[in-house]
Amino acid sequence: MNRTDVDIFISGGGIAGLTAAAAFAHQGLSVVLADPTPPPDTNGAEGSDLRSTAFLEPARELLKTIGLWEAVSEFAEPLNTLRVIDCQGDPPIPRTDRTFQSTDLGSPSFGWNLPNWLTRKVLAETLSNAPNVDLRLGAGFAHMVTREREAIVTLTTGDQVRARLAIGADGRNSPLREAVGIGCKTKRYGQKALAFVVAHPVPHENVSTELYLSGGAFTTVPLPDFQGQHCSAIVWMNDGPDALRLNALDDTQFSKAATSRSCGVLGDLQVISPRNVWPIVTQEAERLTSERVALIAEAAHVLPPIGAQGLNTSLRDVAILAELVLSEKFVIGTTDFLSAYATARRQDIHMRARFVDLYNRICRSDLPPVQDLRSAGLRAVHDIAPLRRRIMTAGMGR
Ligand SMILES: Cc1cc2nc3c(=O)[nH]c(=O)nc-3n(C[C@H](O)[C@H](O)[C@H](O)COP(=O)(O)OP(=O)(O)OC[C@H]3O[C@@H](n4cnc5c(N)ncnc54)[C@H](O)[C@@H]3O)c2cc1C
Repeated sequence: MNRTDVDIFISGGGIAGLTAAAAFAHQGLSVVLADPTPPPDTNGAEGSDLRSTAFLEPARELLKTIGLWEAVSEFAEPLNTLRVIDCQGDPPIPRTDRTFQSTDLGSPSFGWNLPNWLTRKVLAETLSNAPNVDLRLGAGFAHMVTREREAIVTLTTGDQVRARLAIGADGRNSPLREAVGIGCKTKRYGQKALAFVVAHPVPHENVSTELYLSGGAFTTVPLPDFQGQHCSAIVWMNDGPDALRLNALDDTQFSKAATSRSCGVLGDLQVISPRNVWPIVTQEAERLTSERVALIAEAAHVLPPIGAQGLNTSLRDVAILAELVLSEKFVIGTTDFLSAYATARRQDIHMRARFVDLYNRICRSDLPPVQDLRSAGLRAVHDIAPLRRRIMTAGMGR
C-alpha cells in the first residue's frame, strides 16, 4: 500500500473534476485525482459521453485563467443565436418562433459548444503533463476517514491519499457523498433525454434551436463540420416510454422521427453517432460540505438539460473554491473555508434548480392552458426588450 500526502484529493475525473484539478494546480497546490473510468478515445467507444456542453462566458473565462481553454478551443463551435420555437400537434407544427441574439448583450457569442467525450479526453491529456497533478485513472474512491485536520482516502487499489480537502466530483450517485452520509432530494419527471449527433444539409449558422412540445424540449446545438457535412448535437427530451420506443428504432427510422420532431429546421437529419439515454431529474445534495469535504458538480446538483445550466453551474462551484483558496481569510479545508463555500453556492444552486424545474414542467406540459401560457411567455420574454435582456443575462450566468 502506498500513501501520498497532498493538499487536495478529488474523487471523479469528469469535466468538472478535471477542471477543478487544473484550477488548484494552477494555484500551486498538489492534487491527486482518482477515477475508475479513463476517458474513451473516440466518440464510438463504449462508455463515451455523447452529450455536448455549451460553455458559457464565465466557464470559458475560468478555463482561460487556468490554462485549459487553449487545449480545447480548436474543437469549440461558437453559439451566437438562440432560436426558440413553441410547437403543437403530431407531427409538430411551430406556433411561436423567436430568435435571441448574443449581440443584444454586446457579446459575439452566448457560449462555445464542445463534445463532452473530447473535452474530457483533452483535459486528461493536458493534466497528465501538469507537475503537481497526480492522475489516478483506473482507480476509484473506496472509503474515507476524516479528522479535524485531514481526510484519509482509500482507493480501490488499496493505496491511500491524505489530503487537507477531499472533493466529491464523482457524479450524480457520488460514492464520496454517500461515504460521508449526505443525502439528496431528487425530483423525477418520468422523462428521458436522448443525446446523439446528426449531419444535416442546412448549415446551422451557429444557431442553437430549442423546440418545445409536450414531452419536453428538442435542442439542436451547433458542432464543427465533420467530413464535409454540417453537424449538430441533439438533446431530445421525451416521456420515458416514448424515449425508449424511439431509441429502439433503426438509424433510418430514428433519423426520420428526429427530422419530423425538429420541424425540418436543419433539413433532413441523419444520425451519425450512437445514442445515449439519460434519465431527467432535478437533484440537490442536502449539504454541500462535511468535515474536510466539499461536494461539487453533479455530486452536489443535477439539473434537467435546459438552457445549458448543468455543467456551467458546476464550473461556478470550481471557480468559488478556487477563489477561496486564494483568499487570505481562509485556510483550505477548515470549517470556516467550508462554510464560506456552502454560503457562496447554496442560493445560486437552489435558485437555478427551482427555475429549471419550473421551466421544464411548463415546457413539457400537454395541458392547453399551460401550452397557451408557454407561447405567451415566449412572446413576452422576447418582445419586451428589458425583460429579454434580463433573462438572457441570467441565462448566460453573468
Ligand atoms: C442530455 C444532457 C445534456 C446536457 N447538456 C449540457 C449543456 O449543454 N451545458 C451544461 O452546462 N450542462 C449540460 N448537461 C449537464 C452536464 O452534462 C453534466 O452536468 C456534466 O456532464 C456532469 O459532469 P460531472 O463531472 O459532475 O459528472 P460526470 O461527468 O458524471 O463525472 C463523474 C465522474 O465520476 C467518476 N466516478 C464514479 N465513481 C467513482 C469512484 N468510486 N471514484 C472516483 N470517481 C468515480 C465517473 O467515472 C465519472 O467520470 C447536460 C446533461 C444531460 C443529461
